[in-house]
Amino acid sequence: MGYFYGPVASRRLGKSLGLDLFSEKTCSFDCVYCQLGRSKTRYSQRVSRVNLIKLKKELAQIISKKPRIDFITFSGSGEPTLHENLDQIIKAIKKVSGNKYRLCLITNSSLLYRKKVREELKGFDLIVPSLDAVDAKTFRKINHPLKGVSLTKIIQGLIKLRKEFKGEIWLEVMLVRGINDSLSQAKKLKKIIAKIKPDKVQLNLPVRPGKRKFKLTDPERLAQIKRVIGKDIEIVSDYYDGKKEFKASGARIR
Ligand code: SF4
Repeated sequence: MGYFYGPVASRRLGKSLGLDLFSEKTCSFDCVYCQLGRSKTRYSQRVSRVNLIKLKKELAQIISKKPRIDFITFSGSGEPTLHENLDQIIKAIKKVSGNKYRLCLITNSSLLYRKKVREELKGFDLIVPSLDAVDAKTFRKINHPLKGVSLTKIIQGLIKLRKEFKGEIWLEVMLVRGINDSLSQAKKLKKIIAKIKPDKVQLNLPVRPGKRKFKLTDPERLAQIKRVIGKDIEIVSDYYDGKKEFKASGARIR
């Protein structure tokens, strides 16, 4: 199995060539809405899985066919920052592609408090970090983090990232009905967003079924949250159509 998948059409990123650094789920969280299934192990230590020679060869083959690629996106089976030496991987991709493609990182933000991790991320053009909760109880309920992962540190990491990172930051908030979609949560979130200062805030809905049952925030509440947080916020769920019912891939989501 290779490291890359796609390019796939992404509403936010155009044509995105995905890069999966892991062959099995490797994450520090076990989010209620995760599409990858339950986290058997929640990782605290960074790991090294990628063979750079193989990665470069595979990428060279893909780009020799001249596909349209708007972003190469580090995502896939888990949390990309749990892979060591991301700066080396970025360097290898830029070398093979002649620095032709923009690079995007999708991250759960859990390791951004570490200076070494933030330094490795400098070569990205866009970082899409998530922040689903602003209090410890909600954080545990929605993200089921590894014991010891601190929400305070995550928020501090996001604030530091904003100060140091020269590219764009689009903060993503995944909403789950009854867990983090109250208006009081939205008000608290607004205050934290003002400290982080991302370029964009995107509200998303987990419309693809995972292993756990959860309910989707209804459109009226989504619109109220948008009003509370501010006019510059975007709703990015592909399935948000302004109706009461949400359906994804034929599956019924309760
Ligand atoms: S952070 Fe992403 S990969 Fe990890 S459990 Fe949550 S949704 Fe799944």
